[in-house]
Amino acid sequence: TADWQGRKVTVAGLGVSGVPAARVLRGLGARVTVVNDGADERARAQAAELEAEGITVRLGDGDTLPEGTELIVTAPGWRPDKPLFAAAGAAGVPVWGDVELAWQLRGLGGRKPAPWLAVTGTNGKTTTVRMLASILEAAGLRTAAVGNIGVSLLDAVLGDEEYDVLAVELSSYQLHWAPSVRAHSAAVLNLAPDHLDWHGSMEAYAADKGRIYEGNTVACVYNAADKATEDLVREADVEEGCRAIGFTLGTPGPSQLGLVDDILVDRAFVPNRQKQAQELAQVSDVNPPAPHNIANALAAAALARAFGVEPAAVREGLRAFRPDAHRIAHVAEVEGVAYVDDSKATNTHAAEASLAAYDPVVWIAGGLAKGATFDELVAKSAERLRGVVLIGADRALIREALARHAPQVPVVDLDRTDTGAMAAAVREAARLARPGDTVLLAPACASMDMFVNYNKRGEAFADAVRALAAGDA
Ligand code: ADP
Repeated sequence: TADWQGRKVTVAGLGVSGVPAARVLRGLGARVTVVNDGADERARAQAAELEAEGITVRLGDGDTLPEGTELIVTAPGWRPDKPLFAAAGAAGVPVWGDVELAWQLRGLGGRKPAPWLAVTGTNGKTTTVRMLASILEAAGLRTAAVGNIGVSLLDAVLGDEEYDVLAVELSSYQLHWAPSVRAHSAAVLNLAPDHLDWHGSMEAYAADKGRIYEGNTVACVYNAADKATEDLVREADVEEGCRAIGFTLGTPGPSQLGLVDDILVDRAFVPNRQKQAQELAQVSDVNPPAPHNIANALAAAALARAFGVEPAAVREGLRAFRPDAHRIAHVAEVEGVAYVDDSKATNTHAAEASLAAYDPVVWIAGGLAKGATFDELVAKSAERLRGVVLIGADRALIREALARHAPQVPVVDLDRTDTGAMAAAVREAARLARPGDTVLLAPACASMDMFVNYNKRGEAFADAVRALAAGDA
């Protein structure tokens, strides 16, 4: 902690990562200034609390670098093109995100730091990290699912609990601001355009995701069906002896995990003389057993196997795993029509995966597009669409893609962004659906134009479906 005494650190952003970071750094003796763009009532209340703890807070100006700053610790969501970072670059001031801070502090107090098994990708991160934690637990290891979910990394690294290994979810934003993190092993699940407004380009987005492989010691896990992830492994600078391990929904090659007759098998981490693949689990052990989710399970298994976990624990961990809410959750069946909540499908790649699981399907979509285009998604799903109901701010983009690639599909454009729009959307979807169909909420967009977050959007959908079932819609 001596290193931190009197150091002048600027924390960018009051928020879920900024406030705890400021407190930890102050606790270490650093001189901390928090800068924040907003100055609303909530920010003022938080500022008053922090000021009382000896932390300086500057509200309403997140763009000017405070005099004498030696280090910036930023909220991961802050865009790299913000003037604050240009000023930092010009002054030679390093910028860390919340993950980098946790990494740098992980040995604090003389504790032996737990190795990280890290997961990123456009979609499936949370699911895979939770599956991985479940497998590690089944193996009797002290572990937690941390990072972009549940427990913050800083808490996991500095808290009282001791861990043998951490299952770490890392977003592309977090990786952008985490220059020196070195995982034991890491996986990139898939790469599709998302958050391009933030990163600036697909190349920049991929480069940030690829950071997760840098310095891996045991395994870089890639998706054999997604060449971009394999390319990232090839470009990464890893420790000697670190292996590239693929996962595939087909028959696995050497150094791969995959499927043989509905069995998840491992051909990568088998004893030297054993040429046979090792059986890990059945497809039916994975919940839900949709193809994209089997891929998540194989990635989780690969990381666990890289850490030395036995096949029996892989199976036990997968069986014990339960998916989080709003991820392809079956809500109800009403008049022979199934209603499924995949509110977490916040980009086109996720929506494409869930649409592929239903036929025929009435699709409820729309929200904030985040710079995405919808042509590929619509073209690939067109044949399965019974009808489409559009809500949200950027729905015109989807409507235009539908006109181009699925002109025969009936579209109801609700032209609404109020909170009551979801109930109306469900009623319209019910009108379009026939018995045996599925009505799927898979917005392919972020939710913030209409809802606080995707949870609230999913709850609004489920409430509307229950109202429909009760006959009072
Ligand atoms: P993330 O944490 O990356 O957002 P989640 O595990 O929360 O991922 O899943 C988000 C959504 O992405 C799911 O609701 C589903 O629609 C979709 N999804 C999950 N896994 C995959 C995958 N491997 N490939 C494509 N889409 C996926």
